[in-house]
Amino acid sequence: MTNRKPFVGGNWKMNLHGDEAALLAKQLVDSLPSNEKVDIAVFPAFTYLASVGAILKDSAVKLGAQDFYTTENGAYTGEVSLSMLKDVGVSVVLVGHSERRHVLGESNSTCNQKTLAALDAGMEVILCIGEKLEQREAGQTNFVNYGQMALGLAGVTAEQMSKITIAYEPVWAIGTGKTATPQDAQKAHAAIRNFLIFAYGQEVASTVRIQYGGSMKPGNASDLVGQDDIDGGLIGGAALKSSDFTAICEAAVSK
Ligand code: PEP
Repeated sequence: MTNRKPFVGGNWKMNLHGDEAALLAKQLVDSLPSNEKVDIAVFPAFTYLASVGAILKDSAVKLGAQDFYTTENGAYTGEVSLSMLKDVGVSVVLVGHSERRHVLGESNSTCNQKTLAALDAGMEVILCIGEKLEQREAGQTNFVNYGQMALGLAGVTAEQMSKITIAYEPVWAIGTGKTATPQDAQKAHAAIRNFLIFAYGQEVASTVRIQYGGSMKPGNASDLVGQDDIDGGLIGGAALKSSDFTAICEAAVSK
């Protein structure tokens, strides 16, 4: 048993157009458990942040953004700043999701700049890390995770760690239907916490939440979040259906 409050995020990615996003947000407001025992955030596409935010306004569900640019304003065509996100009620951001790292080419250094900028702006950050299949097969899981944390968290102080959640998302498990076994995931999470102990000390490390992400669904959520060092989940596919996402949040409540 830990006293870390589980945290479940729903990453809607580039899915759900206006009416669908609004409908899902309304269903979630009606069905999700209260925030006494679990923190919940959803991450809609940029274009629907304001409309989804308006629906979530009086609920306990936090509004999150999937990406942002680190500069306040200026000649950065196509980008969106943290203060613009704040304007529409965003309080938590994803950094380093595997699709941004491996499909869109974001480096550890970009992830670090984003983490520092988001913390400066007073946002909560979910820093996503995780190994690719070939790295796992080469026994490099911890090596990859440590590297992504060491570089992604460079310059983050122990005090700022209260605003950081780590999402361990093995790349081979994201959107593939393949899930790490609860035991394998726990092993990786325990190693991640050991890194945090080394970097920030036991007291800070014991409070940082480490989410699991990678094909988490109602059928496997309880076993995964039941592990000592798994403090919730970052959910993709199953976050698009209110009953599935609610069931995962309920599983986190019963941890
Ligand atoms: C994700 O996008 O972070 C994710 C974990 O996706 P999925 O649940 O679909 O594997």
